[in-house]
Amino acid sequence: MAIWNPWHGCRKISPGCLNCYVYRRDAEFGKDSSIVSKTAAFDLPLRRNRQKEYKLKPDNEPVYTCMTSDFFIEEADVWRPDIWNMIKMRPDLDFVIITKRIHRFLDCIPNDWGEGYDNVTIICTCEDQARADSRLPIFLSLPIQHRQVIHEPMLEPVDIRNYLKTGQIEQVTCGGESGENARICDFAWVLDSWRQCVEANVSFHFKQTGANFRKGNRIYRIDRKDQMVQASKAGIEYIASRK
Ligand code: SF4
Repeated sequence: MAIWNPWHGCRKISPGCLNCYVYRRDAEFGKDSSIVSKTAAFDLPLRRNRQKEYKLKPDNEPVYTCMTSDFFIEEADVWRPDIWNMIKMRPDLDFVIITKRIHRFLDCIPNDWGEGYDNVTIICTCEDQARADSRLPIFLSLPIQHRQVIHEPMLEPVDIRNYLKTGQIEQVTCGGESGENARICDFAWVLDSWRQCVEANVSFHFKQTGANFRKGNRIYRIDRKDQMVQASKAGIEYIASRK
């Protein structure tokens, strides 16, 4: 996988943003995360090496796009058309965009978007039930070829059965919160999401436990380096069978 951050900085918009890792990391360097600015990697997908080959190759994909901001943030409206052009120029790469601003989607797509570019996956973040119920009806009404949902940081059990039933969601991912002040992620909530996905035949991925992970009556403090490993050890990945 590759990461492409064409701009950096964001504004907090929902409960999941409370301990945002961008803010946490920037604070270590005294940087103001609320200032959104273009980065030196803005044109990364078009960069070439000395042999004139693209630096980002298909074996680097998927390309996670805008991981230190929100792709649909207002401040980036002026830069986004260039990003869509680059995505169009690289049909050999799959681009993945995770957002908490799905309500801005229709204001941000290019004129030739149609039913969506096939090399773009949009992932809608639903960290709690209220965000799921406000964002998913919008998300499911939009012209998007590849749609996923992520509960991260997962703050409570989230019932999305009615949305999964539509058959429009390709995968659900769960993850806890990292950092010193991380809120607890409960394995029971993750298991409940896994069950919903198995019932609806939707792929499921448990990405990471977060720093404070409850299992049964115990709360475990888990080091950053172990959070993905521990999630993987839970053995609850699910790959949907063909429909
Ligand atoms: S939307 Fe994402 S990047 Fe922006 S403040 Fe919230 S958690 Fe951070």
